[in-house]
Amino acid sequence: MHSLSAHDHDLMAVRPSHPHFIVVGSGFSGAVLARRLVEEIKSAKVSILEERPHLGGNCHTERDAATGVMLHVYGPHIFNTDDSRVWDYVNQFAVFEPYVHRVKAMTPRGVFGLPINLHTINQFFGKTFSPEEARAFITTRGDRSIGEAQNFEEQALKWLGRDLYEAFFRGYTRKQWGCEPRELPASILKRLPVRFNYNDSYYDKKFQGIPHDGYSALIEKILTHPRIDLRLGERWSPASVLEKTHLFFTGPLDAYFDCRFGRLGYRTVSFERHEQQGDFQGTAQMNYSERDIPWTRIIEHKHFAPWETHERTVYYKEFSKETEHDDTPYYPKRLAKDMPVLACYRALAREQNHVSFLGRLGTYRYLDMAPTIGEALNFADRFLSAWLSGATLPIFSNVEADGL
Ligand code: UDP
Repeated sequence: MHSLSAHDHDLMAVRPSHPHFIVVGSGFSGAVLARRLVEEIKSAKVSILEERPHLGGNCHTERDAATGVMLHVYGPHIFNTDDSRVWDYVNQFAVFEPYVHRVKAMTPRGVFGLPINLHTINQFFGKTFSPEEARAFITTRGDRSIGEAQNFEEQALKWLGRDLYEAFFRGYTRKQWGCEPRELPASILKRLPVRFNYNDSYYDKKFQGIPHDGYSALIEKILTHPRIDLRLGERWSPASVLEKTHLFFTGPLDAYFDCRFGRLGYRTVSFERHEQQGDFQGTAQMNYSERDIPWTRIIEHKHFAPWETHERTVYYKEFSKETEHDDTPYYPKRLAKDMPVLACYRALAREQNHVSFLGRLGTYRYLDMAPTIGEALNFADRFLSAWLSGATLPIFSNVEADGL
């Protein structure tokens, strides 16, 4: 087959008058982009190919048949953002209920609140520190010999000192990521705040909540449009898209290229379901810090919807493991050994002329829902402006990977 180079493609960038786009995957990236395409190009059609029997990717929620509880089927999803464009966007498609996430950690010394806050520090060290005293105390415990932290462990030792690191992060992180914390990037720990006040909200963001009817209902609304055709249970194959105008791929970047340079590292998650009367743990998320307890956390779903009442309860024990061939990838590991492989896939992606890669899996980054939506909106702007002007089309939803 003769394939056009990106350069040839640019020279003939006369766009078809009735484009038929294909989006692979119906998570937030695919849904937000599909909607923008049909809204902005009135003659366009979008087909979404979703290999699972449901939409929403790993954000999928569904009502449990036995108990009526709304399940976060692939693990907890709490919407949080400072970005008012993203918040306004999702609020067009769902009613958000106020919800503040408060996580507890089970340790051999008792139950503590996370993220580390003044209450955690006072409880853990048996003190009654004021905010300034706690800050001074933690500073003395932090390892001041560490300059710029090069990895997760150094970041934790520098910020918190060994006691808090060992109690809350070391065992959990080894279970969650299947490697030593010093092999992981410091950015993973930087996701979590450390606070010297009694604010125990897991997130710092201005806008937080959970959609009243769940995430799948929200995404279904985004996709409800006469020119969007959602094909559930339809697996993507190169043959299904060759004739179409442009493909937007939100699945794993390495899988698109048949893993020809080897697999990028991902962790996957499995769940063990339990059901009982009443309330199992009194909160939505309990983390298990100890390395010898095989699960990382227990998620009790009805606590994500405090506006509902249920007599029975469902909880999932969550286990983390390496992603094998048929597993769903969840967490991009981005270890040092993954980065040259990623560079090879990125270079190959830039040589294609009819495909763009979006989202957590398509760009191999640890992205939450709100940044994913923000990025899909920005990508749609960049794509539409290039499409309409005949310019080179963007390849990745993260601008820096485009290398433009
Ligand atoms: N983490 C930890 N102990 C905890 C909670 C988090 O060691 O009790 C570490 C762990 O490495 C985890 C990372 O902090 O992967 C980020 O946590 P977050 O809650 O953001 O993870 P997610 O909810 O995305 O799984």
